[in-house]
Order: sequence, then C-alpha cells, then structure tokens
Amino acid sequence: MSIVFAAAATACGGPETADAGCPDPATLTGESTGTMEHVRYLADDALEGRDVASPGERCAATYIVDRFEAAGLQPAGADGDWLQPFEVRTGSRLGDDNALVMAGEETAPGADWAPFGFSGSGRVEAALVYAGATLPPDSSEAAAALEGRIVVLDLAAADATGGSLPDDPHFVASLAARRGAAAVILLSPEGTDLPEFDGERRPFVPIPALEARGARADAIRTAAQAGETATVAAAVEAAMGEARNVVALLPGSDPDRADEVVILGAHYDHLGRGGAGSLDPDSRDIHNGADDNASGTAALLEAAERLADGPTPARPVLFIAFSGEERGLLGSAHYVSHPTVPVDDAVAMLNMDMVGRLRDNTLTVYGMVTAPEWESLVRGVNEARDTPFQLGLLPDGYGPSDHSSFYGVGIPVLHFFTNTHTEYHRPVDDWDTINGEGLDRIADLVADIAGTLAGTGARVADLTPVESQPPAPAAEGEGSGRGYGPYFGSIPDMAPADYGVPLSGVREGSPAERAGLRGGDVIVRFGDTEVTDLYAFTYGLRDAAPGDRVEVVVERDGQRLTLYAVLGERR
Ligand SMILES: [Zn+2]
Repeated sequence: MSIVFAAAATACGGPETADAGCPDPATLTGESTGTMEHVRYLADDALEGRDVASPGERCAATYIVDRFEAAGLQPAGADGDWLQPFEVRTGSRLGDDNALVMAGEETAPGADWAPFGFSGSGRVEAALVYAGATLPPDSSEAAAALEGRIVVLDLAAADATGGSLPDDPHFVASLAARRGAAAVILLSPEGTDLPEFDGERRPFVPIPALEARGARADAIRTAAQAGETATVAAAVEAAMGEARNVVALLPGSDPDRADEVVILGAHYDHLGRGGAGSLDPDSRDIHNGADDNASGTAALLEAAERLADGPTPARPVLFIAFSGEERGLLGSAHYVSHPTVPVDDAVAMLNMDMVGRLRDNTLTVYGMVTAPEWESLVRGVNEARDTPFQLGLLPDGYGPSDHSSFYGVGIPVLHFFTNTHTEYHRPVDDWDTINGEGLDRIADLVADIAGTLAGTGARVADLTPVESQPPAPAAEGEGSGRGYGPYFGSIPDMAPADYGVPLSGVREGSPAERAGLRGGDVIVRFGDTEVTDLYAFTYGLRDAAPGDRVEVVVERDGQRLTLYAVLGERR
C-alpha cells in the first residue's frame, strides 16, 4: 500500500473521500480512448491490482461511478446510491491473548514465533510431543500419542530429510487437529517468513497453530524431544473489510416490462499483490489484471455508454461491476441474494470476464443451454456486423465467473471470453497485452445483444429460461483447488454456506449416490472429520483411501442422517 493510499484508507467513508487519494485518470490513460482508456486506468500500478476491499479497488469503484454518472445512468445500489457494500474477510488480526510459556519463560509473538493467520484461538497447557517431519497415519499407535498434546512438527527436518510433510501448513494443522492434537507448532528453518495476516482468508483450524523459527525453534525441538510441558495461547480474529458492487440502471420506456430487467456484469476486483489465487505464488508484485478483468469492466462501461446514448429500450438495463469475484464470486452471490433491483423477472445476464485478448477474431460465448433462443439470437446479431466474429458457442451455464450466480437462480446467461493465456493471474497481465480494437468490437456486440433483448429496436427478444441444472461435475474440493484422494462423487454447491458442505447434486453411479446422498443434503461429518467447510471436507477425503468404508453424516430437512459409503478410485 502506498503512503498516499494509507491516508485515504484510514479517512475512508464514501467514494468521495477515496477520490482524495486516487490518481487522476487524465494522468494515467495517455492518448487512449474507448475501452483502452478504461483498461489503462484500472490496470495501472497506481491501483495496485484492485484487491477486494483495498484502497486501489475503491479508486476503481470511484472511476466506475464517475463513468456511469457521465453516461447519464441512474444509481441503483443500496439506499439510492451507486454502491452496494458488503462485508468480506480481508485477512486476520491478533487478538489479546497470545503467548508461549516454556520453562517458566513467557514470550509474546514477535521475531521468532507467531500464530498462523488461520490459527484457532484458545489457551492450552500440555506436554509437548515431537513428531518429527511426518504426521503418523490415522488410528496408528503413534497417532494416539498425539492426543491432547502440543504437537511439534519439523518443517526444517522435513527439508533436511526429505520427510513427507505436505507444504501446506493449513492442511498440516487441520490434520494434526484431526489426530486429536491440542495445539500444533511448526518449526521452520532460519530465515523463513513468519505467517502473513494480511490476505489470510483460509478457515480457522480448531486448535492453536503456531510457527517458530531459528533459535526459538531449536529450543522448542529440544523441549519436545524431552516431553516437557508448555503453554500455548493464541487469539486470532478475522479482519473484515467492506467491498462494494457498483450498480447503475438505464430505465426502460414500457411500464409493463419494468421488472423484465436485462443485466450486464463484469467483476472489477483482482488479486492485488498476489498470494492465494496467483499463478506466481511467490511473487508480491502488483497483479495488474488488465485482461482479468479490467477488460470486462471496460467493455461494461462502453456498452453502458452506447446503450444510454441510443434509443430508450422498452425494458430496463442493469449494469453491475462486481467485487470479490476472485475470492469466490462473492459480489455476484451477494447481489443475487440481496438484489437492489429485483431479478425474479430478469430476462438475462450477460457476463464479460477476460475479453481483452481477442486472437484470430475468435470469441467464445458460454451459456447456450440456458435458453433455446440463444444460438440464433447471438449468431444473428453477430452476422449483422461489418466484421462478424468467429464464434465458439458453448453450452455451460456454470463456470468460474459471476454468471454462475445468476444461472444458479434460473436466469439465462451468456459469458463472453477470449480464452486464457500465460499471463493469467500473474503480474504480467498488463495493459499492453490487450487487443483494444478487439475489445471495442466485443463491447459493441454485447451492447447490441443487450439492446435486442431490451428492445431498443422495434421489438423485444424473448427467451425461454431453462430450469438450471446442478453445476457440471468438477473434482471434489475443486473449491479448495486440489482434486486429491479417493473418489466419492459429491457435487459441492459453491454458494457460501454457514456450516458444512451443501450439495447441489451427486454424480450418477458414484459412491455418494450409492450411499444415498442427494442434492440439497449438507455434509456435516465425513468419517472422523467434522465438516465445518469445503476445506475440512477436502482434507477428510484426501486423508481417506479407495475401498475405505466411511460413515457420512448429512443434514436433510432438519434431520441428521448417517449413511455409509465405500470410496472408489479416482479416474
Ligand atoms: Zn476474472
């Protein structure tokens, strides 16, 4: 975070205060016009990669509000404002009671030890037990020795001996908790960075989890090998911030169609300085997100301007710039569950995410299964262009972007995409990789499709919504990024859940289906694993093996059911 921003952030109220710290667009956009003008501003280093709820993202919101206002649109966020704020977790922060007591000496977190940002909170006095570089297999004698103890695991030793400790401290701490540990301390080699709190969003593990390095680690290793008693206290809380969707409306002329809103959307957040989600995980450089998704936001602004300048549509058109997409479609999920403009009668949602890298004039459009009229409508509008696109029309209504939130409630969707590339989710996704001419043309195409639906011409185009099916099967635990372990066949519902893992379905003929699980069930226990969330479920599954007979407890219609599944081989 730059100094200037720090000032603005602390003084932050509405967008007006953010202005003070935001760069003047004229100083950043050079000679660019049209969509490239917007891309140059949104993807400039000055906005520091637009991480959710960050000062850079606020400046992006201010820029978007100014463009919507200049286009003559109406504010349609919360309470008549442009913005729809919602809370997001931005990281972790230390609570009051953090301490390590060994041999009568009490130390506070500092240079040589600290709790992880995902540490559970609590105070534990127990014997230390040295587990070396590996966690013993479940229900082994060695695992029993961990019960109720402070388990010390040696990442340093793993390094030295090539031990098999996975490199994911969150997984290791969850595993130790499942083995019955009262707390866990990971020892790291000298010079290792201590846990980051900024940007830590993984669920809290149920036990205190610390990291120690250097001389402190050596002292802990010796004490653990001697089985000495220690006290570990950790207090770690979620740091919350405010994210904002930006919402604008172009009213329609036909009062009988006032509810038949046509929605255009694009997310404007990105990864900030990397971390979770980055494909350059060790880099802390600015991830400018020019294609992902300054391009889609730019096309949204251009389409808004074009439609506002054109003939008044019969149906209203809603423009939404979403926040929190990179963190799990948070903004679109929030909008769908808290619509400021009702979506019950929404005609369609057109989503633009990564539309800045048009190559060989080829444009991919997902969503064909969500309404039978889509193919002829999209082809028709495309063929009416001076230079029609080479269209790749694909069926999926679901996918890794905001249209999924709308298809999930039965609204026909289109997702526009110019395909992935090697700069994706890396600091090098910069404005000079963007095909500005192609992007302008895509904005035009989307505006024309929206105009056709909204009725800027002689008539409105109607769609026949297709009942949304559960999302296409993806590897379990896809939510948490890795498809490991035996095969079960459940399809997690990716919408945020308070507790457990809600299912949107099960795969045909899968162990889950054979065990009697079905869509709507909420998995709350998997074998010995208390399933607090998708992470816990993924780790529980990863820890089991093909052929294992597992007890699965689900909640269904307010009842708890115990089912038994025999896990399969993942193909
Ligand atoms: Zn994206």
